[in-house]
Amino acid sequence: MPTAPSETRTHPTEEEIERYALGKVEPAEQKPIETHLLTCQKCCEILEFLDDFQAALRAAAQRSKHSNFQVP
Ligand SMILES: [Zn+2]
Repeated sequence: MPTAPSETRTHPTEEEIERYALGKVEPAEQKPIETHLLTCQKCCEILEFLDDFQAALRAAAQRSKHSNFQVP
């Protein structure tokens, strides 16, 4: 395995960012991810994308709930 550049090594994985977005990381994991996101534009964009995705899912869930109410 080639030696990874230190910059890449410090990026959380997309999966970690996703778990962070869902609030499923351990408190010990959360801090370094949060700190990294504040300083890394690239990972911030991934988080924003995941946030949008989560928001879209929630909106879709809301819509289907509402449509259930409206079913005659
Ligand atoms: Zn990063």
